[in-house]
Amino acid sequence: MEQPVALLDGVEKSYQMDDVQVPVLRKVDLVIRPGLFTVLLGPSGSGKTTLLNLLGCIDRPDKGDIQVAGQAIDRLSDDELSDFRGSHIGFVFQNFNLVPVLTAAENVEYPLVLAGMEPERRRRRVRRLLDAVGLADRANNRPGQLSGGQRQRVAIARALARKPRLVLADEPTANLDSQTGAAILALMRQMQEAFNISFVFSSHDHNLINAADDLIILRDGVIQSIKRKPSGAAASVAEDAGNTLS
Ligand code: ADP
Ligand code: MG
Repeated sequence: MEQPVALLDGVEKSYQMDDVQVPVLRKVDLVIRPGLFTVLLGPSGSGKTTLLNLLGCIDRPDKGDIQVAGQAIDRLSDDELSDFRGSHIGFVFQNFNLVPVLTAAENVEYPLVLAGMEPERRRRRVRRLLDAVGLADRANNRPGQLSGGQRQRVAIARALARKPRLVLADEPTANLDSQTGAAILALMRQMQEAFNISFVFSSHDHNLINAADDLIILRDGVIQSIKRKPSGAAASVAEDAGNTLS
């Protein structure tokens, strides 16, 4: 069986509010299959962003185990976790989160600078990435000089810069009109197929929900149901694995 890109086993997370602990995720068991679109769907406050932050190693669970790309994250120190995140995981946000004073090219280049890539190689890679997202002619524009759809394309190029295994996208089309959202979705599908990247989205966008290979429905911090689209060999693996680690 192809190794899952991520596994959650008995994951719990709560936040401290004044004097009380408010549970946000309760005993979540989940297998994220590789090379697919997984969509987290659930009402506002159901824990989607919290779950993405755990998958993205931005946050740690209170209880339970998380593995990403075969790595148990509780074995890593905070510094190791941050290196691991940088080299394995890309992020795309609802509000694009681009650096306003940097050009499109510089935004994409930024994670490569942090990774210490040598300048000439870095620039070649940035050119290829901007080309792949259809923005070769906007390299020198700052985010304020780009449309919402173009900004999200830059953000996708930046997310892919370090060739991650897993890309997490928190409501990536929520601030785009439906036509632009559909184009962004098509771009992400193209990237997923070209580079065999696993995407996990949170979304309310019907286009995205319809495109999901695996649809995870969250409610009040609990997985209510999982609908996995049969897709050849991967489907039988998912059935065998159920949604637990056992
Ligand atoms: P969703 O993305 O599905 O809207 P979130 O994961 O953002 O849900 O939030 C789930 C719950 O956790 C909400 O009730 C929210 O108020 C709470 N929450 C999220 N982040 C924090 C935080 N940093 N501190 C306290 N409570 C939080
Ligand atoms: Mg959210």
